[in-house]
Amino acid sequence: QKLTKDEVRTMVKDENIRFLRVMFTDLLGTIKSVDLPVSQLDKLMDNKIMFDGSSIDGFVRIEESDMYLYPDMSTWLVFPWGAEHGKVARVICSVHMTDGTPFEGDPRNNLKRVLQDMQKMGFKDFNIGPEPEFFLFKTDADGNTTTNVNDKENYFDMEPADVGEDCRRDIVLALEKMGFDVEAAHHEVAPGQHEVDFKYADALEAADNIQTFKLIVKTIAKKYGLHATFMPKPLSGINGSGMHLNMSLFDKDGHNAFYDENDEKQLSQTAYHFLGGLMKHARSYTAICNPIVNSYKRLVPGYEAPVYVAWSTSNRSPLIRIPSDRGMGTRLELRSADPSANPYLAIAAVLEAGLDGLRNQLPPIHEVDENIYKMTSAERDKKDIRNLPDTLHNALKSLAEDDVINGSMGAHIYHSFMEAKTREYDAYRQHVSDWERQRYMDQY
Ligand code: ADP
Ligand code: MG
Ligand code: MG
Ligand code: MG
Ligand code: MG
Repeated sequence: QKLTKDEVRTMVKDENIRFLRVMFTDLLGTIKSVDLPVSQLDKLMDNKIMFDGSSIDGFVRIEESDMYLYPDMSTWLVFPWGAEHGKVARVICSVHMTDGTPFEGDPRNNLKRVLQDMQKMGFKDFNIGPEPEFFLFKTDADGNTTTNVNDKENYFDMEPADVGEDCRRDIVLALEKMGFDVEAAHHEVAPGQHEVDFKYADALEAADNIQTFKLIVKTIAKKYGLHATFMPKPLSGINGSGMHLNMSLFDKDGHNAFYDENDEKQLSQTAYHFLGGLMKHARSYTAICNPIVNSYKRLVPGYEAPVYVAWSTSNRSPLIRIPSDRGMGTRLELRSADPSANPYLAIAAVLEAGLDGLRNQLPPIHEVDENIYKMTSAERDKKDIRNLPDTLHNALKSLAEDDVINGSMGAHIYHSFMEAKTREYDAYRQHVSDWERQRYMDQY
């Protein structure tokens, strides 16, 4: 529902909107925003808002730093809070060079590029239904985040003692006011852990939604004196936070291209080849879907997170599960991704993996219906089941070796990503932790 410029002007007046928040996402997935007084509305809609690109992680050097924000008016929405001083509307932008060309270092532009490749192959939408999980931690008297969770509840618990439940309900209300179609919201397995699921959307909108979602969750949590974190594994010994990605392709007529009622599993050849691509490239897109050092502390046995590259229709332990829904709901669920991923880059990477499967008619190898965690490593070897990378370092190595997946980022982003992530891993590798001192100080 794209608004015309006049409709926007009218809305700004009627709704007493005083500020415009223009947002985009940097390389690392952080939301960047600039607040403009509403007097700048026309300038914004004329693509004339300039900013210094060299101040943004992974963008450009000083010499070429002038960049422009082009608003995508279809993302226009009004925040449901802060009405005292006039409301704030936000719009998501893409980043352009001074000559008007889309900046290739902008993750959102990059996703559009991969989506165009998909459209050339005859598909209309790449649907993404994300399941982001997060923790709510208490803050102390000074407002600093603690590692105390705010409840002792469990998966689907409905006890009145669930303090986070009020907060979560408020989050859902805010999301609905902003036009999200929330399908479910529930307590997760770990204490203090929550999940909110919203309806799938085409890739670009889904990535925008994920970014907006994180902003809303953090903002509302703050009002409750809580800190919301999307860090994948904030506490050892309990489940981490994932962001399963449910995905499907719709063809030009709006039919789900993964569904075929005549197949034994009611899956199409398109679904099988796409799955083949996801299997083949799993180790390398892990670097993008699980991009921080801490991501790899979640991808360990025993906490419902995947560890092995396999798929199943019947079992939740492998990397990819095919839920039993068919018809429009036919989808593949990637269970490794976590919410520290830049959603624009992660979605582009898995799409590129799937498209490679289609282009090369890759077979859907590594179907496993037994519980992989109960198999011995010899049994896994016999079935040729590989592990996901166990560290960011190993994931980056796989990414560097896989031109299909590093190509999903484009050369500019890939370079910046590798540089930033290599530095991040090196800093981690050189840090001496409490765990090491406790383990070794007396022993040696
Ligand atoms: P789970 O059973 O893994 O907990 P959820 O019910 O929490 O799954 O989430 C399922 C997600 O899948 C929702 O976001 C939903 O909108 C999405 N979904 C449903 N159909 C499709 C589809 N065809 N393509 C992509 N995502 C879909
Ligand atoms: Mg779920
Ligand atoms: Mg569910
Ligand atoms: Mg969950
Ligand atoms: Mg799931």
